[in-house]
Amino acid sequence: MGKKYDLVIVGAGPAGLMAAKVAGENGLQVALLERKANITNIYRVDGGFMAPMNEYTFGHTMTFNPEAKRIGFPVAGFSIRYEGPWNNGYGFDVWSPSGKYRVSFGKREEQRKDPKRNRMAVAFDKGLILKALLEDAQAAGVEVFPATQATGVEKKKDSVVVQTEAGETFEGLFVIAADGVNSRIVRSMGLNKDRKFYATNKAYEWGFEGLDLPHVEGITFVMKAEGMFSVINEAEKGHYHVGTISRNTKYDCKAMLHKFVYEDPFYSRWFKGAKKTYTRSCVVNMFHALKEPFKDNVLFCGDAAWLLEFSNCGAALTGWSAANAVTLAIIDRKINKEGIQSYLDYWDKWFYGPHGEIEFKSVEIGDFLDDSDLDYLISLATEKPLPATLDFYKLFNIIGSTYAELFPRISEERPDVFAKLMTMADQLDEQDEHFAKIGFPNL
Ligand SMILES: Cc1cc2nc3c(=O)[nH]c(=O)nc-3n(C[C@H](O)[C@H](O)[C@H](O)COP(=O)(O)OP(=O)(O)OC[C@H]3O[C@@H](n4cnc5c(N)ncnc54)[C@H](O)[C@@H]3O)c2cc1C
Repeated sequence: MGKKYDLVIVGAGPAGLMAAKVAGENGLQVALLERKANITNIYRVDGGFMAPMNEYTFGHTMTFNPEAKRIGFPVAGFSIRYEGPWNNGYGFDVWSPSGKYRVSFGKREEQRKDPKRNRMAVAFDKGLILKALLEDAQAAGVEVFPATQATGVEKKKDSVVVQTEAGETFEGLFVIAADGVNSRIVRSMGLNKDRKFYATNKAYEWGFEGLDLPHVEGITFVMKAEGMFSVINEAEKGHYHVGTISRNTKYDCKAMLHKFVYEDPFYSRWFKGAKKTYTRSCVVNMFHALKEPFKDNVLFCGDAAWLLEFSNCGAALTGWSAANAVTLAIIDRKINKEGIQSYLDYWDKWFYGPHGEIEFKSVEIGDFLDDSDLDYLISLATEKPLPATLDFYKLFNIIGSTYAELFPRISEERPDVFAKLMTMADQLDEQDEHFAKIGFPNL
């Protein structure tokens, strides 16, 4: 049996690293296990560390002071170090298939006049944030074990033991499982069996430098019948993530992205002369969020406990809260669920309570609407300015209410498109079942 720790953390993403830094700074003896050899390299698709500013996501907002080189979390009450490039984001744009119509969420010209007050987000370099958290954790005495893959946990009378692929064991009073969206710890403890399985998502993305865009900041979506594409500014000015994601496991996301970037009659002009900087991909399963992120002295944080894309900020916040809860449990000598209750309350107050039961229904738009239908529908929403937001939950509500108001007009002007929309609405549940059926839940 290896050395004993107060806390063993599995996974060094934003959730695990934040937990390691906080637990280490609180004086706990901590082991951090990470399967990657180089912890700060990002291999999986990720829109970047877009931190919400001037609006609340999961009840939290953030601040950035480049002079102090600190990113603040004022609702939670802490800040983290950041020394690197950054870029403002003002909102979403949704473009139509032909490129003729664009719906903007927010008025960029107005917002840009006072970026500090009006930006909706700041894009940071995720690798540099992970680096700063790792350095702080190590400075606080956290023992870091890269290239170490955890395979499961075993509950002992007064502790939990983490097993690794290499046959090592790490024993802690508590374990934080922060091993991401396809958490092996969650699966090995049998928790996926009680979670609704939605779908397997495939995503593919390229990094680009030097795009020729009509706008420079924010998140751009292009809706086409064959799929949706995103162009998102990175922390480094002039650099963008360009990608596509689908619940249809039969789609070839790489081929779709290639066609969009190099062959699309309108959008390929954005990429002429641009330089590709990286390729990332992922295949991730989407399960219902965990209602109670705790079992057998294991606390679940970040994507491991959520359904997908919890967000980098949400992940860091849960790591912070879980590490503080473990610290209090040890001070109070309550090495059990009662000891870490503050984490369960935090999870329920900000995350599961308000958002955990919301279901994101998804449809294959191309089964119902063609590019000219989408052009028509998007053209209608350009007539009235929509509120600025970078919050997906708000965004879906805004889109829903905008089109609900437009329904009478659509039914009069384009009864054919209206009929297709009604068929699509009728088949939402069937589509959901279809995506679950063609996925690979790997329980
Ligand atoms: C397609 C996609 C796009 C996204 N875009 C955005 C975005 O634009 N903005 C945003 O804020 N968020 C975005 N996210 C979400 C964001 O990436 C995650 O919410 C965030 O990274 C979750 O952090 P985490 O620490 O919980 O997990 P992760 O970042 O996944 O970290 C988990 C860590 O655990 C390690 N690990 C896994 N298994 C083991 C094991 N068995 N043993 C040891 N280590 C292990 C992994 O190597 C990884 O380092 C996106 C996510 C996806 C899937």
